[in-house]
Amino acid sequence: MTTTPRIAIVGGGPAGLMCARVLQVHGIWSTVYDADTAVDSRDLGGTLDLHADAGQIALEDAGLMDAFLASARIEGQAKSRRDHHGAILAEFTPAESDTAAPEIDRGQLRTMLYEHLRPGTVRWGHELVHATPLGAGAHRLEFANGASAEADLVIGADGAWSKVRPLLTDAAPQYLGVCFLDARFDDVDTRHPEVAAIVGDGHMFSTDGEGRAVIVQRNSNGVVRGYVAFRSELDWHVAAGVDVTDREAVRSHLSREFGEWSTAMRMLITDNDGDYTPRSFWALPAPLTWEPVPGATLIGDAAHLMAPFGGHGANLALLDGAELAHAIRKEDTVDAAISRYETTMFPRSGEFAASSNNGLRRFFATTPPHAPHLPPDHAQEHRNYEARAAEYRRRQAADRDAPPPSPGRHSEADPPRRPTLASEHHG
Ligand SMILES: Cc1cc2nc3c(=O)[nH]c(=O)nc-3n(C[C@H](O)[C@H](O)[C@H](O)COP(=O)(O)OP(=O)(O)OC[C@H]3O[C@@H](n4cnc5c(N)ncnc54)[C@H](O)[C@@H]3O)c2cc1C
Repeated sequence: MTTTPRIAIVGGGPAGLMCARVLQVHGIWSTVYDADTAVDSRDLGGTLDLHADAGQIALEDAGLMDAFLASARIEGQAKSRRDHHGAILAEFTPAESDTAAPEIDRGQLRTMLYEHLRPGTVRWGHELVHATPLGAGAHRLEFANGASAEADLVIGADGAWSKVRPLLTDAAPQYLGVCFLDARFDDVDTRHPEVAAIVGDGHMFSTDGEGRAVIVQRNSNGVVRGYVAFRSELDWHVAAGVDVTDREAVRSHLSREFGEWSTAMRMLITDNDGDYTPRSFWALPAPLTWEPVPGATLIGDAAHLMAPFGGHGANLALLDGAELAHAIRKEDTVDAAISRYETTMFPRSGEFAASSNNGLRRFFATTPPHAPHLPPDHAQEHRNYEARAAEYRRRQAADRDAPPPSPGRHSEADPPRRPTLASEHHG
């Protein structure tokens, strides 16, 4: 760019931290604001598979593939499907050389990205409350802690309930009709050997064809996380008279609701350590687009929250972050960078959101009874990730070989720019 913009990234999840990291690799500084008080101040949830054609492209651009592979679990790509009596319907075991979609704990991914940012890049404890346009693409950000900042480019990476999104669109997440309880098993090989045997090295999916499902996933350090999911209204617990903070009350309710499931499969529902965490599935309307807004855009879930069926959300979040950083690096103005990024992001996210939301509907379909929806062909899926990754790299190389940028434009060969932070005020 001909001038150095003040870049504020709201949200330090996969999308925001990746964007900051790729910008930093190219000598462009940004400030990330996150509501959390520290990188590890809360339990972020389960494991993520990072696909060769999305998350891994971003990791390579960030120079973090080796760091990722040091923590990633190749064997975690294993998948099995069982019916609710425990009978195996399908199994996939990855080859040792298969790196199409290795797993990593969310916490490990976040820490890895954070630790590769220049100290001071992330401002923890900064929950955005309002973003106000000031004209000419500038915005004023106000945080719950009383601080405020001004920026020439505001990047909304603040997830499902984005506070930046209203600058661009009135769209809001819609409830998908499925709730779930997040359950956890610690030291699983020693303390829960039956659960360990069912989950194996990777994931086990089970549905009963009547809108109930259990998904269990092996994480690192002997932890298994499970999602006990069912079609219901958001306030199912009120109607059922269940206090969701009362572990035994939830267990009794689930034992009744999953009464047709075999004893072994019911262990996945009732033998967990600790309390259940209630959650629900939401998605933005898809495809979602908006008219260009000077000085503001969205990445990750803030732009395209979708059902997590297909495992695309975090992958697209990472890719969005990397691609927006490249667009900022390549274009002369903030608005040209936004346009370049959104032109690619809109059709891609629309396609993945539609297929992911359909995946959720199929998985929780209630007809016909006892005919669970079978899994995709994972071996083929992995070949597809690799083929699309190669195609992406070919296009990227062609783009790099294109005529050099006009004088004054920033390039990879330029020395790092002087840090330019969103100008801040503390109230
Ligand atoms: C049950 C479940 C399983 C999933 N499994 C997978 C999977 O296997 N593979 C996959 O690719 N995806 C999966 N996803 C989706 C994935 O978790 C998301 O798509 C991904 O986390 C999006 O990253 P993000 O950075 O856009 O948003 P987030 O991860 O939500 O990060 C947003 C960040 O913004 C911060 N923030 C929020 N509001 C504010 C505010 N007002 N001010 C400042 N900071 C704020 C938050 O603290 C957070 O750090 C799953 C989702 C769910 C619910």
